[in-house]
Amino acid sequence: MSNLHCAIGNCKINAHNKPPGISFHPCPASSEMRNKWLMMLKNKCSMLDWAKSRICSRHFENKYFDSQRKLKEHAIPTLFPASAMEKPLRNDSTPIFNAKTERLLNKQVQSDLMIDIKSSLNKLKEPTNLDTFVTDELKWKPDAPMEARLWLMVKKQDRLITMLMEDLAQNRKQVETMRKNMEASKLSKREMEQNFESMKYIVKSLQEKHATLEEQIEILTAVEAR
Ligand SMILES: [Zn+2]
Repeated sequence: MSNLHCAIGNCKINAHNKPPGISFHPCPASSEMRNKWLMMLKNKCSMLDWAKSRICSRHFENKYFDSQRKLKEHAIPTLFPASAMEKPLRNDSTPIFNAKTERLLNKQVQSDLMIDIKSSLNKLKEPTNLDTFVTDELKWKPDAPMEARLWLMVKKQDRLITMLMEDLAQNRKQVETMRKNMEASKLSKREMEQNFESMKYIVKSLQEKHATLEEQIEILTAVEAR
């Protein structure tokens, strides 16, 4: 097992450096699937031994795994990310080092996050000469110190949040108007139905009283004009 490594040319994943969650998978047995694999791998592998070579799970899309993370029969390696090829360790370590932060962030509620960000920002001081580090395109100049860059980002983010809030308020208003319109149209529909029903009733009564057609029209016109 110790010499296990991914057969994809530049992929540096092997049994020793493999990050958690990465698995190795054997090549398919059927010639039909092998042909499909060859199409994908012809420029990616210098050597492929159908019996011994293994491909690491990084090269398969999620849809090709079943719930047990086993490779499905029709799986084809289609992913050859440049980052996986050149700097596997650095690329892998990022999610591992940030896993705790991600987990904690997922637990936070929106209001707590907002309060936390606001209080952190209050501790930062806006550079007095921020403007001198900002270009006319609202980017930082190459010589801008880190805090000026940070502040520009904070300002942009602030502006973005304001804009989003405005959009949200606008949307809410539109939804409210639509809801009101819908209710109004429902009401008028009901009114029309009621009118129609009473008209039908009047016509029926008139017919029962054997009013002539002319009398019926006269009475109906009077009712309508009311
Ligand atoms: Zn690989």
